[in-house]
Amino acid sequence: MTREVFYLIDNLKREVAVIAREAESNGLCRHRSGNFSMVDRASGLICVTPSGVDRVNMTEKEIVVIDMLGNVVEACEGLRPSSEYLMHIAAYETRSDICAVAHTHSPYALVFAMLRESIPSVTAEMLHLNLREGRIPVADYARAGTKELADSVREPLKISDAVLLASHGVMTVDGVSLSEALLKASYVEEISMAYLNARLLSGGNVPLIPIEDIKKY
Ligand code: 13P
Ligand code: ZN
Repeated sequence: MTREVFYLIDNLKREVAVIAREAESNGLCRHRSGNFSMVDRASGLICVTPSGVDRVNMTEKEIVVIDMLGNVVEACEGLRPSSEYLMHIAAYETRSDICAVAHTHSPYALVFAMLRESIPSVTAEMLHLNLREGRIPVADYARAGTKELADSVREPLKISDAVLLASHGVMTVDGVSLSEALLKASYVEEISMAYLNARLLSGGNVPLIPIEDIKKY
C-alpha cells in the first residue's frame, strides 16, 4: 500500500466505524446484525465491518480491508470480514457509481422483507431512493452469507438504491458517503413503518402517488 492509499483507506475505515456505531445506537442494527462497507475505486480496496463483532464501541482498528476478490488485505488478529462480504462486492461490481453499502435488519422493513412484498409509491420520502420503477424491490430469497444472496441483489440494484432482502433485511447504497447510505436505510425503515400502519388502518387500501413524483428530485 502506498502512503496515499494508506491515508485514504484509514479515512474510509474511520467512516465505516462511525456509521456502524451510529446504526447500532439509532436502532437500525441491533444484536450484531447488519454490516457496512466503503470502497476506494482507485485501489480496489474495500473497508468492511468485521463479522460477529458488537457495533456499540466499534473502532476503525477493527475494520477489515479486503480486495474485490474477497482476499483479506488487512485485519486485526482474530477478526474476519463480514460474512456478507460477497454481497458488498456484488453491489460494487453491479453499480460502478457507488462507494458505500449499508446492510441492516431494521424491524419494520423486515416485515415487508419477510412477506417478500415490494413497497409501492406511498410517500414523497421515496424520492431519495433512486427508484427507477417506483417501488422498493425485493431480492430473491437466498441463505445469509452465501454467493446466492450476493447474486440476488444484482438485478434489484439496477433499479433502486434500496433493496429488501427476502426474509432477512435491507441493503442500501450510495455514491457519496456511507452516512448517506445509512440515511437511505433510515428512510426505508420510516416508510415501512408508515406503510404498515396505513395498511392496517385502511384495511389494505393505501393510495399511491404518481411514480413520476418519486422519480423527480
Ligand atoms: P456479520 O456480523 O458477519 O456481518 O453478519 C451480520 C449479518 O447481518 C449477516 O447477514
Ligand atoms: Zn444480515
